[in-house]
Amino acid sequence: MNKLGTTAGLEHYQMLVDGVWRDSSEKATFDSINPATSQPWARVPVASEQDIGDAVQAARRAFETGPWAASSPLQRATLLRKLGDLISDNAGELARIQVLENGRLIREVSGRARALANHAYFFAGVAESPTGETLASSVPNMQVFTVREPIGVVAAITPWNSPLTLLLWKLCPALAAGNTVVVKPSEITPVSTLVLAGLFSEAGFPDGVVNVVTGAGSVGATLAAHPGVDKIAFTGSTAVGKKIARTAADRLARVSLELGGKSPNIVFPDADLTSAVNGVVGGIFTATGQTCMAGSRVLVHTDIYDEFCDALIARTERVKIGDPMDPDTEMGTMACRAQYDRVLHYIEVAKEDGARLATGGDRPEAPEFVGGLYIRPTVFTDVDNHMRIAREEVFGPVAVAIRFSDEDDAVAIANDTRFGLAAGVWTNDLAKAHRMVRRLRAGTVWVNNYRRTNHVAPFGGFKESGIGRENGFHAIEEYTEVKTVWIDTGNQITDPFSRP
Ligand code: NAD
Repeated sequence: MNKLGTTAGLEHYQMLVDGVWRDSSEKATFDSINPATSQPWARVPVASEQDIGDAVQAARRAFETGPWAASSPLQRATLLRKLGDLISDNAGELARIQVLENGRLIREVSGRARALANHAYFFAGVAESPTGETLASSVPNMQVFTVREPIGVVAAITPWNSPLTLLLWKLCPALAAGNTVVVKPSEITPVSTLVLAGLFSEAGFPDGVVNVVTGAGSVGATLAAHPGVDKIAFTGSTAVGKKIARTAADRLARVSLELGGKSPNIVFPDADLTSAVNGVVGGIFTATGQTCMAGSRVLVHTDIYDEFCDALIARTERVKIGDPMDPDTEMGTMACRAQYDRVLHYIEVAKEDGARLATGGDRPEAPEFVGGLYIRPTVFTDVDNHMRIAREEVFGPVAVAIRFSDEDDAVAIANDTRFGLAAGVWTNDLAKAHRMVRRLRAGTVWVNNYRRTNHVAPFGGFKESGIGRENGFHAIEEYTEVKTVWIDTGNQITDPFSRP
C-alpha cells in the first residue's frame, strides 16, 4: 500500500522500490502543503542515497532479468491498456490529490483524466507498431536492417504544475519500448505520483519496472548522477535542465529536456477578436499561469492595440478566482509559497521597469482568500520586449501586452527570446498564417487556438526550451537506441589481405 493511513489529518505515504512500499532508510519525511489553505495534508519520505541506489539497482535487475526483460510488445501493450483502464477508474482520486497538492482546478484535472488514459492506450498501440527499417544493400546477398532497442534504466524527473500528465508523457513511451524507470516527482507534488505508481503495480507491471523515490532537488541530482542511470527524462526549469545536461555529459547518458518558455501569442487586426481575447485569456490564466506553454507575451498590432487591451482587461477582471475544489472556479492558487513570492516579485520588477499595471498585480482581499496563495490575474500594457517581465519566465498569472507594427516586426519580437517552446497566431488571412508558422522559432505553433496538446502530437522546445520531443511516434525515439544489423546470406568471405 502506498498510503499507510491518516493521523491528525495528515495522510502518510511511502515510496515504491522494487515492488515494495517503504519509508526512507533514514526515516526522514517532508510534508505536502495544500496551497489553498497553506496547511500540510500529507507526509512523504525523503529518499536517502541508499534508497536511490536501491531503486536504480532494482530497475537495472528488472531491465536485465526476469519477466520484463523477456516481455513481448504484446505483453507490454496489454499492461499499458490495463493501466489506462485503472487511470479511468481512479480518475476522481487522482484529481482530488492533484488539487490538494498544487491548487489546480478540480474541473481542469478531472477533465484531463480521460486524456491520461488515452496516453496509455496510444502507447500500447505504439508498443506493437513496427519500428525498424529494411535498408538497401550495396552488395548482393546482404540483408541490412535496423531494430530499435530500449535504452535501459530511465530516470524521470518531473515538475509540480502537471505532475501526472508530464510523468505519463515519459513513462508510457519508456515502458512501451521496454525500459525500466525510477521516478523523482517534484517535492511540491509527490503524492499523485505515488498513487499513480500504485496503479502500475495493480496493472501487473513486474517489480522494479516502475520505482518512485521522493524528496527535494538534491534527490533528483543524486539520481541523475547515478552511474546506473542510462537516460534522464526531465521536465522543469531551464536552469535545472542545464545542470542535468552537464551531469549527463560526464558519462554521455541520454537526455531529453522539456524546459521553460516565454511564448508569444500574436494578434493581427484581421483576427476574430472575440476568439482571440478568449484564446489569450485561456493561454495565460489557465492553471494560474503555471504552465510551460503559457502565452505570457501578448503581441498586439498597433491598429487594434487599445481596443484589444481594453477587451482583454475587461475579461481578465471577470475571471472568477476561488477554491480550486469548487467546479465554478476559473482560476485557483499558486502551487507553493516560493512561486507565490516569485510572481509578486516579478510584478514589482515590471512596475519599476516602467510597464503599466492595467489590472491585478496583488492578492485578492476578500476573507475567503486568507491563508491561500492567491494572486489576481494581472495584465501589464505598454511593455517593451527588452523589459525583464518580457524576457524571463514568471510562471504565474501575468500577461504582458506588447505593440507591433507589421508582420516583420511581430516575427522579430516573437523570436527575440532565448526560449522557443510555443507560439500562437490569430489571423483570418490564410497566407499570413502559413508565413508566420514558418517564421516563428518554436516547437509548437497554434493558429486561431492556443494550448492544444494530445498524445499523438509531438511537443517540445526549440532553443533553451529543451531537447527532444514528447508524445506521438517521436517520443519512442527518445527511449530507444537504433541497432543496425548486416546479415550475409551467401557470400564467400575472401581473405582481406590476399592479392588477386
Ligand atoms: P524545477 O526545475 O525547479 O524542478 C523540476 C524537478 O527537478 C523537481 O522534481 C525538482 O525537485 C528537481 N530538481 C531540482 N533541482 C535539481 C537538480 N539539481 N538535479 C536534478 N533534479 C532537480 O522546476 P519546477 O519549478 O518544478 O517546474 C517549473 C518549471 O518547469 C518551469 O520552468 C516550467 O516552464 C517548466 N515546465 C516545462 C514543461 C515543458 O513541457 N516544457 C512542462 C511543465 C513545466
